Amino acid sequence: MREKHRPVYSSDKGRLCPTCTQPVASCRCNKKKAVPPPKGDGVVRIGRESKGRKGKGVTLITGMTLNPDELKALAADLKKLCGCGGTVKDGVIEIQGEQRQTLFDALQKRGFKVKLSGG
Ligand SMILES: [Zn+2]
Repeated sequence: MREKHRPVYSSDKGRLCPTCTQPVASCRCNKKKAVPPPKGDGVVRIGRESKGRKGKGVTLITGMTLNPDELKALAADLKKLCGCGGTVKDGVIEIQGEQRQTLFDALQKRGFKVKLSGG
């Protein structure tokens, strides 16, 4: 069984990264450069927040994977639809008032996977 004693150089590690010479599986070079994956799981969540807003709640839409321009445009549409003010903050659309059902229907109509969350 001379095969047994033959040293194995790379077949056990697979491909090596040319940058850090680590096995590709444990290499972090590409992971740093890679575009961060969209936040969340592709499900848009519609929640509510009323803390510290003097009882006037806002409806929050999170989990959006749109780019900032698309997000702004969508927020503008939703504001018009609800007849309320709102903003986009850190990728989250905030619409004033309790608008969850309206937004749920509107987003679903646009083809988003939507879930209502929070109380
Ligand atoms: Zn590497």
